[in-house]
Amino acid sequence: MSATPDRHPDLHLDTFLVSAGRPLPEPGAPVNPPVVLSSTYVADGSVNYARAGNPTWDAFEEALGGLEGGRALVHASGMGAISAALSLVPAGGTVVAPDTTYNGTVQLLEALEQAGGTVRRRHATDTDGLVADLDGADLVWIESPTNPLMDVMDVRTVLDAARARGVVSVVDNTLPTPLGCRPLTLGADVVVHSATKYIAGHSDVLLGVTVVTDDAAGAEIGERLRRHRTLHGAIAGPLEVYLGLRGLRTLALRYERASANAAELATRLQGHPAAERVRYPGSGAMLSVDIAGDVHAAERVCAATRVWVHSTSLGGVESQLERRRRQPSEPETVPPNLIRLSVGIEHVDDLWTDLDQALRAAL
Ligand SMILES: *Cc1c(COP(=O)(O)O)cnc(C)c1O
Repeated sequence: MSATPDRHPDLHLDTFLVSAGRPLPEPGAPVNPPVVLSSTYVADGSVNYARAGNPTWDAFEEALGGLEGGRALVHASGMGAISAALSLVPAGGTVVAPDTTYNGTVQLLEALEQAGGTVRRRHATDTDGLVADLDGADLVWIESPTNPLMDVMDVRTVLDAARARGVVSVVDNTLPTPLGCRPLTLGADVVVHSATKYIAGHSDVLLGVTVVTDDAAGAEIGERLRRHRTLHGAIAGPLEVYLGLRGLRTLALRYERASANAAELATRLQGHPAAERVRYPGSGAMLSVDIAGDVHAAERVCAATRVWVHSTSLGGVESQLERRRRQPSEPETVPPNLIRLSVGIEHVDDLWTDLDQALRAAL
């Protein structure tokens, strides 16, 4: 057993994420959980084969469960977690979702339609429309702010309406992190994360997480997710999970600094001649900018940075930027001249100087 939220109910989240998932502090005990590299275990224990469980997972799951206020499962990637969550939709079932979300989710929802399911799509901020669509639906997908448009959903209203109608709700909480939002406390049934992003935080592993509520309904859903993980086999390697937990230790510091940087950059970008529109949700470490000019102008910006890394993905310590429509799978609801910025933990003045000189390449 190790530090659990039950043993430390009084801890702030930033303290909890430093101490969670550690072995008991007995004399001579390691302070970090071991990386257990074994595909099989001696018979008659709590786990017999490593597709079903691993002690390094237990430590990470304890930390993520505590942070979100529920019970967590680690998956091989964010998409592994999202696939497990969407397996909760019955064959031919109906999903309500924003029309723009992370593009992997967009594509999985299209696959669900091809397999005979129905997807009702609304603009993320059309709360009345989303609520109206919940009647007769099986599952509602929430992502706020949406990636990459940074639209902020009325999460509480949609969750309340889903709960009243018995619709299973899933929140992709990758962008806010548990420090920015804890959807289970607002009434969500399932939280998913791409732990590849802020949780691991160093652009060196892929990992995903699902978290369910710590009650009978959550136990039932959690069992279905666990079964999906075990049978479909999208399991995380123990070393990756160890690195995820190691990254998590500094989440509060990284997220605080990156968010402060993002707020400052959003202010400085307002009125920049190369920024046609700044999409900043008001908190968090992400923003998007519609570049004044065409696709080529936006590409020139991405090619002209020295500190910012021109790469896909987000949530690392290093600032990253990308014109999202470069990805062939990105939905057409995303403007072709939109650049997404994942703000890192560098000095904000260096970030600004580099971004400003790169933006001038657009003009
Ligand atoms: C990256 C991302 C995912 C997918 O996660 P992977 O770890 O790349 O599989 C899902 N949702 C959001 C919001 C993301 O940013």
